[in-house]
Amino acid sequence: MKPEFDALIIGAGPAGLTAAYQLTKAGRSALVIEQDPTFVGGISRTANYKDYLFDIGGHRFFSKSKEVVDLWDEILPDDFVERPRLSRIFYGDKFYSYPLNGFEALRNLGLFESALCMLSYAYAKVRPIRDPKTFHQWVRNQFGERLFSIFFKTYTEKVWGMSCDEISADWAARSSRR
Ligand SMILES: Cc1cc2nc3c(=O)[nH]c(=O)nc-3n(C[C@H](O)[C@H](O)[C@H](O)COP(=O)(O)OP(=O)(O)OC[C@H]3O[C@@H](n4cnc5c(N)ncnc54)[C@H](O)[C@@H]3O)c2cc1C
Repeated sequence: MKPEFDALIIGAGPAGLTAAYQLTKAGRSALVIEQDPTFVGGISRTANYKDYLFDIGGHRFFSKSKEVVDLWDEILPDDFVERPRLSRIFYGDKFYSYPLNGFEALRNLGLFESALCMLSYAYAKVRPIRDPKTFHQWVRNQFGERLFSIFFKTYTEKVWGMSCDEISADWAARSSRR
């Protein structure tokens, strides 16, 4: 039997829904299959718990791609809510900007830990991993192994549920610009 659609899309998260939207605009038909019995939106959706609305993580929209921004303006012409944003890591009784600000981190960490971080940073700069492939390698090149293990490893692995050695360097480069 011939399928009655041009594209089969697995997953109704932002990627799947956007692909289906674009295909439909281009005159193609698409079937989206979602494993969740109730919701679309993947991990970007807003969940309703006892009439309180929660995002799964502090989701905000940010893109340097004009094409992507235009698309969202097209879909939500009046519904974008602009909010000032401040993301910080609370570590050792101090707040650290997220994305990390190297100088602020060193100031907050104190003399001894900062010295170790500087040494580790210098080592990473002198001996960078050529062509970093993983999140771990990319962050280690940018900040040094010590800052990676203090600020990036546990947080990232908790959020994404996977090892920093399995997340791609490409994702690290993009998320650090948020
Ligand atoms: C804590 C947190 C904070 C974040 N903050 C931001 C932010 O501020 N800004 C931002 O731009 N991004 C943010 N992100 C990232 C963003 O949530 C993801 O990049 C985005 O949701 C990815 O969309 P996706 O469609 O690729 O995948 P997902 O959102 O994961 O959607 C995948 C969908 O596919 C379905 N699926 C999976 N397997 C199958 C299958 N076999 N059959 C059928 N259905 C299937 C899933 O149920 C899900 O609905 C954040 C992520 C997290 C975890």
